[in-house]
Amino acid sequence: MLELPFNPPIQQINLPDFNANGVTVYIKRDDMLHPFVSGNKWRKLFYVLDDAQQKNSNHLVSFGGAYSNHLVALACAGAMYQFKTTAFVRGEEVNNHMLNLCKLYGMELIFVSREAYKNKLDLYYEFAQQHVNTYFIDEGGKGELAAKGCTHILDDADGFTHTVCAVGTGTTLAGLAKGAQLKNITAEGICVLKGAEAMDHEIGALAGFDVKVHHEFSCGGYAKTDTELLDFMQHFTMHTGILLDQVYTAKMMLAISKLIAQKYYPTNSKILTIHTGGLLGMLSIV
Ligand SMILES: *Cc1c(COP(=O)(O)O)cnc(C)c1O
Repeated sequence: MLELPFNPPIQQINLPDFNANGVTVYIKRDDMLHPFVSGNKWRKLFYVLDDAQQKNSNHLVSFGGAYSNHLVALACAGAMYQFKTTAFVRGEEVNNHMLNLCKLYGMELIFVSREAYKNKLDLYYEFAQQHVNTYFIDEGGKGELAAKGCTHILDDADGFTHTVCAVGTGTTLAGLAKGAQLKNITAEGICVLKGAEAMDHEIGALAGFDVKVHHEFSCGGYAKTDTELLDFMQHFTMHTGILLDQVYTAKMMLAISKLIAQKYYPTNSKILTIHTGGLLGMLSIV
């Protein structure tokens, strides 16, 4: 059975914008799970790798864009736990710091056109016919086993009223919400994509109940930034010493500071935010 490298700490955020109205905000430092691998991607892979081992699959096959935190995590986990890894990467062949890490960890990269990438299962089945003991992992590592891994984020978190994380596919939030329910904590998500309201339903289906997702804080859409976001990121980091990434965690933190200012959270709420990692993305700010 696999084990998490270690259990990251929970710290209080001592920033005036986060402590209005008797509200206090804490952060679960899942970014510390690994220096390069995104924290929630570790959590999401946990039971998936276990399942692959049990099925005697030793070759993990997955999908992602050229800046996929998931692919870096998969490549690293593959190297640690003796799986071969292959990734179908969307778009023409490129090189960047994230794909270089994937290669160092031994991942095979196959670049495919955006058109071909749309049919992931076709790509997988064709590949599986030519290789033995392969195991399919969806884009972003999403799915039920991935959500199960995220139920453990709150294992050592007690006494909080709310917990909040960034939402891409929503798998992390679904798992977080399940874990939170056991502790009477309300889980909410901050969606980093624009116009993704339809995903609320999927998240609810994965969690087993409705989970609140805020959709008004995407700053223009996935991986889009604006001055307010980048200024906030700078402000947060220079006053806490905690790095954020502009794609996920900075949007979540900015959203929480705004919700606190709007008095959305009741007086004396104790909020646990989840630092899902993703810091490699920060190196791509231009
Ligand atoms: C992938 C990722 C997310 C989104 O996780 P989902 O389960 O897809 O919603 C959030 N934060 C970081 C840092 C990520 O890399």
